[in-house]
Amino acid sequence: MSPTKRNSLNRELAQFVRHAYAHAPAVQKIFDDAGIKPKDVKTVTDLERVPVTSKDRLAELQRESPPFGGFLAVNPKRLSHIFLSPGPLFEPHGAEKALTRVAADVFRIAGFKRGDVALNTLSYHLVPAGLLLDAGLRRVGACVVPSGVGNTELQVKMLLDLQVTGYGGTPSFLMMILKKAEEMGLTVKTQFALKRALFTAEPYPPSLRAQFEGVYGLKTLNVYATAELGFLAYDCSAQQGLHLADGVVVQVCDPTTGQHVAANEAGQVVVTTFNETYPTIRLGTGDLAIYNDAPCACGNKSPRLTLVGRVGDAVKVRGMFVHPNQLKLAMSKFPAIARVQGIVTRPDVRDDFTIRVELAGEASDGDALSAGFGETVRNVCRVGVDKIEFVPQGTIAADAKLIVDERKWE
Ligand SMILES: [Zn+2]
Repeated sequence: MSPTKRNSLNRELAQFVRHAYAHAPAVQKIFDDAGIKPKDVKTVTDLERVPVTSKDRLAELQRESPPFGGFLAVNPKRLSHIFLSPGPLFEPHGAEKALTRVAADVFRIAGFKRGDVALNTLSYHLVPAGLLLDAGLRRVGACVVPSGVGNTELQVKMLLDLQVTGYGGTPSFLMMILKKAEEMGLTVKTQFALKRALFTAEPYPPSLRAQFEGVYGLKTLNVYATAELGFLAYDCSAQQGLHLADGVVVQVCDPTTGQHVAANEAGQVVVTTFNETYPTIRLGTGDLAIYNDAPCACGNKSPRLTLVGRVGDAVKVRGMFVHPNQLKLAMSKFPAIARVQGIVTRPDVRDDFTIRVELAGEASDGDALSAGFGETVRNVCRVGVDKIEFVPQGTIAADAKLIVDERKWE
C-alpha cells in the first residue's frame, strides 16, 4: 500500500472508531472493558488493541440485547433494510456506502462497466447478498437483471433475449444455466453476449474455471465475501491466493490472542469495514487463512489471503494452527501417498507431531518419500514433523479425522 493510501485509510479508521464508540453502546463497552479510548486507535496497527468479536459472540449479544446487540450506531428511523443472515444474525442497513463502494471496486476489477447488462442470481431476500451485488453493479453503471435463484430456463431466456453481458452469482449455477441452454439447442459462444462473471459464495475449482474461461471464453473473477461484511478479497490470473479489496481492513490473527500472525502463518480472518450503520469493529469471521504480502506475479500490489478452512477444525501445534486442508494440500503433491493422519501428542512439555502415512502401492524409496513429505508438510503448515510413520494399507479409515489431538490437559 502506498503511504498516501495508508494515511487516508488510517484517517478514515480513526474517524470511524470515534463514530462507533460515540453511537454504538456495544462498541463503547468493548473499548471500556479493554481499557482503551477511541483516540488510542489512530492506525490499522493500533486496531490490534481492540478485542475480536466472534460471530457467535455477536449472535449472543443480539440475544442479550435484541435485536442488534448494541451495535446499531444510527437512529433506527434511518434504516432501509434489515436482513437475517445465518447465525442467525440481524443485520441492519441504512445509508452507509462502504460495502457498496468495495463491491463496485471489485466489479470494476472483474471488468464490469457502464453499458453492461448483468444477471444477478443471488438471493434478494433474507440475506444481503443479492442487494449488495445489485448496488455494486449499479454503481459501476451496469443495468441489473435481478433474476435471483432458480428458474434455469427463464435464466436462459433472459441471457438470450436481453443479450446479457455479465453474470453475478455462484459458478455452479452459471454452469447449470449454460448446460441448460445447450440442452435447449443453443450455442453459448455465438448466440449469447455473455463476457464476464463475478463468482462468490462457493469454491471455484480449477476444473470449472478451465471450462468457463477455456470453453466459453469468459473472463471470471472469484470473490471471497461474507454476509455481514461484504466483499473482502478476490482472485487473479496468478491463482496464488486472494488479493485484499481496498477500503476494508482485513487482518489475520491468532484466534486466541487476536494478535497478528506472521506472514505465511495461518490465523483467523478478522475484518473491520467502515459500515457506520452497524460498526462491528474487528469481527472474527471464523475463517482460517494464510496472509502473504510478497509481490504477486499478476502485478497487483495488494496483499493476499489463502483460505485454509474454518478455525474450529484446526489444531494448534507448537503455537501454529494446522488445518486438515493443509495436510490434504501437502499430500496432493505425492501421488504415492493414499492417506495421511497427523497425531498430536504431548509426551513432555513439547508437542509431538507425528504423521501416519498409508501408501497407494509399494514405496520405491521410503526414506526419500519420508524426507520429501516431511519437508512439504513443514512448508505448508509451518510446523516441523517429528516422525513420519508408514502404516499398512487399511489402517487409516476413509472417514478418519485428518488431525487427531491426543494431548491431555489435566
Ligand atoms: Zn495476483
